[in-house]
Amino acid sequence: MSVAHVKAGSPVRGRRAEGVGLPRIEDELRKQNDRFSAAVENMSHGLCMFDADERMIICNGNYISIFCLNAEIVQPGIRFFDILQHSVDIGVASHSAEELYAIRKPYIDRAKPSTYEETLSDGRIINISHRPLASGGWVSIYEDITEQRRAEQELKEQHRRFDAALANMSQGLLMYDADGRLIVRNERFLELYHVTPADFPLGMSHRDALEQLARLGIYAEIDIDGEISKTAACLQAGEMRSTYRHLADGRTLLVVRQPMSGGGWVATFDDVTERRRVEERMTHLAHHDTLTNLPNRSMFRERLDQALGEATDLAIFSLDLDRFKAVNDTWGHPAGDWLLKCVAERLQRCLRNETDVVARFGGDEFVIIQFNPKGAGDAEKLAKRIVDIIGKPFRDKSRDMHVGISVGIALSPDDGRDADTLLKNADMALYRAKSEGRNVYRFFEPGMDAMVRARRALETDLEAALRRREFELDFQPIMNIASGEIVGAEALMRWHSPARGLVPPDDFIPVAEEIGLIVPLGEWALRKACTVAAGWPHGLRIAVNVSAVQIKSGTFARSVISALAFSGVPANRLELEITETVLMDESDTVLKTLRQLRDLGVRIALDDFGIGYSSLGYLRRFPVDKIKIDRSFIRDIDNRDTAAIVRTVIGLGAQLGTTVTAEGVETEAQLEFLRKEGCVEAQGYLIGIPSKAADIARLLESRAGIRQSG
Ligand code: C2E
Ligand code: MG
Ligand code: MG
Repeated sequence: MSVAHVKAGSPVRGRRAEGVGLPRIEDELRKQNDRFSAAVENMSHGLCMFDADERMIICNGNYISIFCLNAEIVQPGIRFFDILQHSVDIGVASHSAEELYAIRKPYIDRAKPSTYEETLSDGRIINISHRPLASGGWVSIYEDITEQRRAEQELKEQHRRFDAALANMSQGLLMYDADGRLIVRNERFLELYHVTPADFPLGMSHRDALEQLARLGIYAEIDIDGEISKTAACLQAGEMRSTYRHLADGRTLLVVRQPMSGGGWVATFDDVTERRRVEERMTHLAHHDTLTNLPNRSMFRERLDQALGEATDLAIFSLDLDRFKAVNDTWGHPAGDWLLKCVAERLQRCLRNETDVVARFGGDEFVIIQFNPKGAGDAEKLAKRIVDIIGKPFRDKSRDMHVGISVGIALSPDDGRDADTLLKNADMALYRAKSEGRNVYRFFEPGMDAMVRARRALETDLEAALRRREFELDFQPIMNIASGEIVGAEALMRWHSPARGLVPPDDFIPVAEEIGLIVPLGEWALRKACTVAAGWPHGLRIAVNVSAVQIKSGTFARSVISALAFSGVPANRLELEITETVLMDESDTVLKTLRQLRDLGVRIALDDFGIGYSSLGYLRRFPVDKIKIDRSFIRDIDNRDTAAIVRTVIGLGAQLGTTVTAEGVETEAQLEFLRKEGCVEAQGYLIGIPSKAADIARLLESRAGIRQSG
């Protein structure tokens, strides 16, 4: 092509055509030249054309503006080198004109099109394409690619960051495109599943990936169709979904699927095994008793409320160990804890029904829900089993521990339809069981409520009574049958309650024992009795009743010694009346205490003999100084069998060298029988009723006077 023509003022500069021929051809040429100029001027790139002498033929406005050239200088005919020099002069070029020329020259000389980039002094990057012209010379196209490069750079940076994030994620990650093809997969994913990139190649479908997981046996179980529809549901809802996955190796993964805005989704995989374990442990702890691992109160309540909501028949058992405090006191708390664990195990073994629940409420309190008992009979069977199994000794390496259990039962719906009422009523039945001798079970009965309230009131009054000095001692004389002399007296406690009147000891002593009040109360009685006896003629004994709770308290020997010292009564004038239950206690404390006192000279009497266990074995364990035959035997002495028993006990006493005293002697006939059988002592209304201290002192003075003077 020949030379382009550019009109004056036109941004496209070119050499004016010379040697015009025919007007038509000229016209045609002009038109063509105009079209060419318009095309060149309107192209988005810079363009410059040079002839074989490296002089510019034509350039467009974009070329001028890319290089910020002066259009007056850069005119057709200017040498290529001069343009370079001009660009150096105006400070656009980042090299000298010679250097620039040396860089460009090889491209210019090349016979093939070529491309290279040049960076300007202001940092812009210009892409330059050279194209040799057939006529010699060349055309260059210039493009400012600064923006494009920056965008590319940014994209690269973004990729780098994305890769870094992927590589450093603690979670595994898979990304699927809108067609469900795997497009991204990080290292952590491979690590988590112990798989290789070849197992999960990019491009693989979601189904193939799931099938691969199944094939590799990674999941404990997997439902491929289920998983696919879960993903579909997640995508449809357009929101994140998470599920736990259990791996065959025991780990748990949290899988979160998150749809992406442009289609497709991201799945992340997090190993939450440890977290889940901790969570499970925390939940377990919140619902279980740490010592026995049984459900605790809160879990029990949950189960009970749930069961009541289902309207099933239930039996609620409220359980409390008997003598547990003694185990703790005697053997120490570790032994107590061990015993509670054993109790928990035994209780669990008692349950027959899978759904039945045994819980520990704390201390020695347990509770059971029995589901669908067939009436009270089933509940009763379970209660019997419990009482029986807990009553058996708990044996560890070195010792046997004995506890019992008291059981209160409330039935739903008869005894209540809500948890609070049922628990309260079962407690009330338990209360009754405790007060009726322990180691028994009792069903709730309407009216127990009132009984329990009355009992609570009694406890409160009793506690106040000691402070208000409402207690007093009466004394009942004891006679030597052979000589008819009074040899001593038994102190019997009386409670003069302003509100209740005179309360008999049988009504308040057991309560005082249960609430622990018997310890200070018994101490008071001991000191008071000794003080009174100090004023009696010498040689007369004072008998004081002592409860098992006192002896087990650990401070008993000290309080006896202190009472003797305080009153000045010699030890051999004091007789402590204990019951068989005291001797039944397995612990060392009791026997040690009794021996210690006996060594001091204090005498030990076995009270109420015959009504308890009457196991003569206990007498072998601890040889007492006196046996007191219970008054119920004396009352029935007309009965031949009873008479035989009394005779045997008297004979036994003689053999053992133990004094035998008959209680409750009311008639001459009874006394006569006892005398004939050789019973040593008698006590009862016939000899003297329990009387005030002053009255008994007078009686003792008169009846024992002979001895004292003699
Ligand atoms: P106990 O030690 O067997 O006391 C004898 C009970 O028999 C006394 O009843 C006495 O009043 C009663 N009694 C005496 N002679 C006769 C009689 O001829 N006929 C009848 N029917 N009864 C007679 P009390 O005073 O009601 O005491 C009952 C129980 O209370 C005592 O039985 C004793 O176990 C306990 N107790 C009394 N005082 C104390 C005390 O200070 N400490 C402790 N731990 N228990 C005490
Ligand atoms: Mg007594
Ligand atoms: Mg008695």
